[in-house]
Amino acid sequence: MIPLEEAQAEVVAACAPRFPVSVELSDALGLVLAEPIRAAEDVPPFRNTAMDGYAVRAADVAGASPGRPARLRGIGTLPAGRAPSHPVGPGEALRIMTGALFPDGADAVAIVENTRLDGDDVLVEAPAVLGEHIRPAGDDIASGQELFRAGTVLGAGHLGVLSSVGCQRLTVVPAPVVGVLSTGDELVEGPVVLQPGQIRDSNRQTLLSLLRRDGFRPVDLGIARDDQAEIEEVLADATGRCDAVLTSGGVSMGDFDYVKAVLDRIGRMHWMQVAIRPAKPFAFGLVGETPVFGLPGNPVSSMVSYEVLARPGLRRMSGRLEGDLHRAAVAAVVDDQGWQGWRDERTTFVRATCRFGPDGRLLVSSTGGQGSHQLYAMAQADCLAISPPGTGFSRGDPINVLLLGP
Ligand code: AMP
Ligand code: MG
Repeated sequence: MIPLEEAQAEVVAACAPRFPVSVELSDALGLVLAEPIRAAEDVPPFRNTAMDGYAVRAADVAGASPGRPARLRGIGTLPAGRAPSHPVGPGEALRIMTGALFPDGADAVAIVENTRLDGDDVLVEAPAVLGEHIRPAGDDIASGQELFRAGTVLGAGHLGVLSSVGCQRLTVVPAPVVGVLSTGDELVEGPVVLQPGQIRDSNRQTLLSLLRRDGFRPVDLGIARDDQAEIEEVLADATGRCDAVLTSGGVSMGDFDYVKAVLDRIGRMHWMQVAIRPAKPFAFGLVGETPVFGLPGNPVSSMVSYEVLARPGLRRMSGRLEGDLHRAAVAAVVDDQGWQGWRDERTTFVRATCRFGPDGRLLVSSTGGQGSHQLYAMAQADCLAISPPGTGFSRGDPINVLLLGP
């Protein structure tokens, strides 16, 4: 058996980032920036007012109070989106709305709450502080500034910033197209009555959904029978048109585990026994240049090997940087009756859920049946508690967990 870290390192090393492409801003959410971006413009682009009120000269309203207001001549109204026609002179007040270009001549905002009207005159009842409520051009982003580095994962805020500086297209690493193939003579799909020995294919639905959740582009390759020619045909086609392929089933020690035989023939595969439970059998290699992940058939095993082995490789293909590939392990505390250790050299991932306790610690409890076929408990898990070989846990024991959130 090999340690999980060794298997992960092998996968990540062989999953080269995809070649960058240019995309519209609106298609870039969740993708990784392939080159640094500089701001082409100031944001805000011009000096503007942060409040509704009057653009005035601070000297004109110094010492103003409700009892002794400063009387200024109203010279018009400036909404956001217009440019002022002339500067504000001594003794004048220009009504301005939030976001309006702040006029020359004025140097302070008398907020509307401190004013009242008397005919065309504006009575200002409090001093306006020089510069207050005025946002200089470039106050948020200065033209020429480096905004985001290559490797940045583009979120909603990043795309907003890029919109604000007039960026239309960017160079990103495209999300990999990932095929998902189920294998096994026992598998059926659709609204059919199960015949003896048959089961419904669940792995494909799970894996396609995990890929979508993680921002990859899933392709449904259907079910292949336990037949070498059929498996070979599907895999040859899939590795030609996908950036990576996930198979499930047929990689263990069974008599009909033909995925193994086929991949050995058409690819350069490494068959691993990874020192984890579930998901010990795992195959990884290249068919041509396409990474292929041979996940085990048991539903929990295929999910766990996706999370800890396939996902990091696919994230690397997506351009994510070292340090942003693997699930984060965080410290928690066992909050149920615990469990006995498993007496072998494997690390067990206990399917569990976690929540913050009143003292701010993360409390973790098992979600139920821990068999590799018991998908129900895995479905309800939001973390995997890392139970080292041979170690049992009791309530209150510290334990590390891998968080499984999106
Ligand atoms: P295998 O790795 O092909 O020996 O499969 C191991 C176990 O997982 C067997 O009980 C299979 O019936 C089951 N299995 C394989 N593929 C799937 C699938 N796509 N959906 C649900 N169970 C599966
Ligand atoms: Mg099988």
